[in-house]
Amino acid sequence: MKINDIGGEFALIEHLARLVPRQGADLIEGIGDDAAVLRTAPEPAPYLLVTTDMLVENEHFRTHWAAPEQIGYKASECNVSDIAAMGGTPTWMFVALALPRRTELEWVEALYRGLARSCHRHGIALAGGDTTQGPTIAISITLLGSVTPEKLCLRSHARVGDLLAVTGSLGASAAGLALLDKGREPTPYLLEKHRAPSCRMDLSDRIAPLAHAMIDISDGLASEVRHICARSKVGAELVAEQIPLHPDVAAAARLLGVDPLQWALGGGEDYELLFSIAPEQWPKLQAAAADCRVVGRVVEPAAGMVLIQPDGTRRTLAGGFTHFA
Ligand code: ADP
Ligand code: MG
Repeated sequence: MKINDIGGEFALIEHLARLVPRQGADLIEGIGDDAAVLRTAPEPAPYLLVTTDMLVENEHFRTHWAAPEQIGYKASECNVSDIAAMGGTPTWMFVALALPRRTELEWVEALYRGLARSCHRHGIALAGGDTTQGPTIAISITLLGSVTPEKLCLRSHARVGDLLAVTGSLGASAAGLALLDKGREPTPYLLEKHRAPSCRMDLSDRIAPLAHAMIDISDGLASEVRHICARSKVGAELVAEQIPLHPDVAAAARLLGVDPLQWALGGGEDYELLFSIAPEQWPKLQAAAADCRVVGRVVEPAAGMVLIQPDGTRRTLAGGFTHFA
């Protein structure tokens, strides 16, 4: 039996998790959110956050498409993004590396310069790791962080009636990748978004005290909405025309003759944030963090997940990136 036969990446995680104990009084949130949430001292002491993410050569990056500095920066930022999605602050980093024999010292040094640039940005200290030889390059980062209980934003916290909103704009990383794939030169903006995206730590701190649920957009908006719906046991309605797209994304879509919405919904690697928030908090949120747009709302679970298209028709929301598909 192949992994995809049981439903792909997320079904596999569920399947494997059942094989190992995963309960504990101080495990506030285990598998199923952007980071694990652990109680290390009685509230109101901050919770410990732990997240880990692995980048594999030719799956997540190609050494001839991205410089090692960019790969290192992105590897760190995608972990910080998971801490940001909890409403937390990153603190300590551990880096595990698998490197083929052919690897140049200069390549690894540059990788670490990229890591360091992200760590400086967020005040993160490197606290350890592991180094081994392997058939391709793999970079696995574990990042610790902290969050006060009242700022914690779980995927399971969305409520019927909430607005769904995103930071920044979506689809730029996927648009950049699509152009590269077709041998076209992406604009500097799309290239930066694809090769060295910066996560939204700048906004998460201001969103967290006001939001209910939050998740980072790493696998496409559709997939992240599905995670919030599943964990919160709610439905969702997205309005296609309200999903923010950068002008360069729209231009790339015209050039390649595709619908840019498919990059926003299913493209992934945007590292923006999706959150749910009570409508009465929205004016306060806008005053604190202007770079946010409402894209839909949380509805009764029976309504499922719906995309309202520009002509007013409703279709079931599909899409989102998953490994092993
Ligand atoms: P993200 O995209 O936010 O990094 P993932 O989709 O990678 O999150 O993971 C979803 C959840 O599943 C997280 O809680 C993560 O800790 C957990 N998880 C992923 N892979 C495994 C695994 N092999 N064993 C146990 N838990 C896992
Ligand atoms: Mg995440």
